[in-house]
Amino acid sequence: MKVTEHIANAKNTVFSFEILPPLKGQNIKALFENIEPLMEFKPPFIDVTYHREEYIYRDKGNGLLEKRTTRKRPGTVGICAAIKNRFDIDTVPHIICGGFSKEETENALIDLDFLGIDSVLVLRGDPIKSENKFVPDPNGHAYAIDLMEQVVDMNNGRYIDEELQSATPTDFCIGVAGYPEKHFEAPSMKSDLKILKQKVERGAEYVVTQMFFDNQKYFDFVKLCRAEGIDVPIIPGLKPITSLKQMSALPRTFFLDLPDALVDELEKCKDNAAAKEVGIEWCIQQSKELIEFGAPCLHYYSMGKSDPIYRIAEGIF
Ligand SMILES: Cc1cc2nc3c(=O)[nH]c(=O)nc-3n(C[C@H](O)[C@H](O)[C@H](O)COP(=O)(O)OP(=O)(O)OC[C@H]3O[C@@H](n4cnc5c(N)ncnc54)[C@H](O)[C@@H]3O)c2cc1C
Repeated sequence: MKVTEHIANAKNTVFSFEILPPLKGQNIKALFENIEPLMEFKPPFIDVTYHREEYIYRDKGNGLLEKRTTRKRPGTVGICAAIKNRFDIDTVPHIICGGFSKEETENALIDLDFLGIDSVLVLRGDPIKSENKFVPDPNGHAYAIDLMEQVVDMNNGRYIDEELQSATPTDFCIGVAGYPEKHFEAPSMKSDLKILKQKVERGAEYVVTQMFFDNQKYFDFVKLCRAEGIDVPIIPGLKPITSLKQMSALPRTFFLDLPDALVDELEKCKDNAAAKEVGIEWCIQQSKELIEFGAPCLHYYSMGKSDPIYRIAEGIF
């Protein structure tokens, strides 16, 4: 079933989470063991992130460096299929512009369609780690909305190969990203929302937000979206803080603010174990308030560790 169908059929707020594919060379068993306990809370769908290539530099031994391209976390499509097969649960792969030509995207979408995966989260993707700005593939897409249009085209039976006659239309439910604290490159919230509205007008059926730690930011964002006529479900993305260093790493990486009350509590913590307790408790309170608000689904960023998510879900779902 599609994400929007799961939401429409649910009587209460739905639980779901996002996982990262394992690092290249690791096996899938550890991933299964990590997510298995979360099945207790009956997530109707699990998201699997996509990671673009990175550059690595090897010392050639003659004073020169060799630049190589590597994808450290491959396997998104395979993991989606493996989880679906193992747990009989829907999976939502993230598809990104970065590092993919239109043809590679089309082939990935054909694989997903054959596997019976019918929801995708469509994103631009971040810049390569060593680059300070996003550079699209020469034959790829510069913005998520362009990638989204490729998916919409396939849903209408239009593939890249224009010669293709009577191509089978796909039927993907399309999700896109939303930023309660604005995307860092957008000149203003208004311009960011204008793009989000265009995405919805052109076929996006739901929005998943970037993580936030102050629910008021989500409430305000939903209000602004509704005022703009963005009427699709807006799923809040949540991440429990699990270490002291995340106090500076999360704002730096995701361009967000931590509320004073949370920072005050974290500053009292002597070690990561104490910070993790504060982070879990904060996320439980956030979750309870979001359920009361009527959020359609709570979507947790597991970042490869399911035990904090288990503790939160235990107190909520
Ligand atoms: C829920 C969620 C899941 C994510 N999962 C992944 C993942 O799996 N892999 C990964 O690499 N990254 C992931 N990201 C990160 C995401 O790729 C980055 O935040 C990226 O910088 C922007 O992605 P986007 O889809 O919002 O881009 P876009 O919609 O392309 O927007 C990027 C910027 O360009 C502006 N913009 C958009 N369209 C236009 C246009 N036509 N003309 C001018 N300006 C425009 C926007 O306002 C914004 O400032 C995720 C983010 C979220 C919120």
